[in-house]
Amino acid sequence: MSTTNQSTAGAPAQGATLAAGAKPAAKPAGPRRIPAPRVLPEAMPFWEAAKEGRLLIKRCQDCGETHYYPRDICPHCMSSNTGWIDAKGEGTIYSFSTMGKDEARYTLAYVTLDEGVTMLTDLVDCDSAALAIGQRVKLVFKPSEGDYPVPMFTPV
Ligand SMILES: [Zn+2]
Repeated sequence: MSTTNQSTAGAPAQGATLAAGAKPAAKPAGPRRIPAPRVLPEAMPFWEAAKEGRLLIKRCQDCGETHYYPRDICPHCMSSNTGWIDAKGEGTIYSFSTMGKDEARYTLAYVTLDEGVTMLTDLVDCDSAALAIGQRVKLVFKPSEGDYPVPMFTPV
């Protein structure tokens, strides 16, 4: 079997643009900027701890379950008897997806912490082609455009 690549003479020219009404060129993709996190009052201790490089999660003192994103009310049993604990900052990749291109590429992921909660986060400082579900990752804080650094993860 042979494959033939015929160049089709007379095909419409690719990339032809109309001079009138031409759209402005797209901005070149720069390194990804991390937007300032939206800080809700009930999560303020989480962000203050982030400044110190600590990852806090919430544990319910009635049912014992942990949860993330931090809320005043336990999503498992609706108790308001929740408290903060320091997460160890290690976990495994539950799923991930790489987006963007060139230096603006970034990898969104769900990471399940050893404490049991799953966080939507970014995987950073790694070769996205070498990532795998189930891989061990550890916490790293990255500066955002706001006042608080954002918890992200990198392969162990
Ligand atoms: Zn509970």
